[in-house]
Amino acid sequence: MKMRNFFILMILTTILFMYCCNSYSNELNSIKEDIEIGIIIGTSNFIVGCSNKFSITDASNKKLKFSKGILRISCDKNGIYIADKYFLLSPIKIKPSNNIIFVESKPYRGYLIIKKFDNKLNIINVLNIDDYVRGVLYKEAGNNWNEEALKAHAVISRTYAVANLSKHSSQGFDLCSTTHCQVYDGIIGIENNAYNKALLLTECEFLTYNDKFANTVFHASCGGHTESPQYIWNCKSIPPYLQGVKCDYCKDAPYSNWEQTLNECFIRTKLSNNNFNIGKIKKIKIKGKTITGATNELEIFHSNGKLILNAYQFRIIVDALQIKSHYFYHIERDGDNFCFKGKGWGHKVGLCQWGAKTMAENGKSYKDILSYFYPGTEITKITYKR
Ligand SMILES: [Zn+2]
Ligand SMILES: [Zn+2]
Repeated sequence: MKMRNFFILMILTTILFMYCCNSYSNELNSIKEDIEIGIIIGTSNFIVGCSNKFSITDASNKKLKFSKGILRISCDKNGIYIADKYFLLSPIKIKPSNNIIFVESKPYRGYLIIKKFDNKLNIINVLNIDDYVRGVLYKEAGNNWNEEALKAHAVISRTYAVANLSKHSSQGFDLCSTTHCQVYDGIIGIENNAYNKALLLTECEFLTYNDKFANTVFHASCGGHTESPQYIWNCKSIPPYLQGVKCDYCKDAPYSNWEQTLNECFIRTKLSNNNFNIGKIKKIKIKGKTITGATNELEIFHSNGKLILNAYQFRIIVDALQIKSHYFYHIERDGDNFCFKGKGWGHKVGLCQWGAKTMAENGKSYKDILSYFYPGTEITKITYKR
């Protein structure tokens, strides 16, 4: 069950990374030690708890102290209410004395900042970057992975975090906790020696290119060759380390070859819901290939004409969970159904997770893995600013 959840989360993460080629800050400035993760966005109330002493401070420096226990926090247009009893001004800071705070019964390291936006609350978990990366590793990589694969993932997840610190600045935090950024779900299950060791052995290490943070996107399995982002996110300038590499290491990955049958009406409805006004679909044809042999575009013949659509966009619009990648090698109509045959899982750009796992099992080091999937990059040690 856990592996199933892991796979679903992993693929969701890799599918929905919402990557934009020029959106990240890649200057190697000194890095602040803490990161602010939006864990719940736009709620009207929630329950916070602590098994030890904790305090709540508001914008006017008013401070409430509690011995331990749980409190309901809510808001109205004027401010924030603690247990329907105390009124505080946004933002408020909730600091546990033992560095562990519970939100809706789920434990988090660090502390919380609660900000009121449009009469709703954004709950932000502030914690050490490596504690955050440990939580991401738990969601993205199995704890039975070889140490070198975990180390490689620790470096890319840490790099992704610091290179995208301003991604959610308009909402008052650095990164969200969903597939939009990196999946993070607090500290349940993360206190594992394998993750701790991977983080310790790569302490302060970041992947860089020409003295800038590399954009360390990753996906589940590439199907034989990693992809250039030009076919996925329509990027104008592609960094040399993301041009795509051959990968013979993910042949045994789940969905290295996959088949999926979808109903014509289902596909048509999904496209219509995304403003593609098409008639009954008669035929779907592969049109052009990417440098990796994956599908560049699809020609969709329908009763009102023909639609040409980027294959990755088609996958995201129709169903990114059922259609595992844009690497179709056969599409066939069978009555009212279309059968898609394809290879790989995810957007195929950057590091292939199953490839990295196999490379590590074959004796490759995390440095070998990173320089293979992001050629020309290097590992740079950067100390945190306290
Ligand atoms: Zn996000
Ligand atoms: Zn691969």
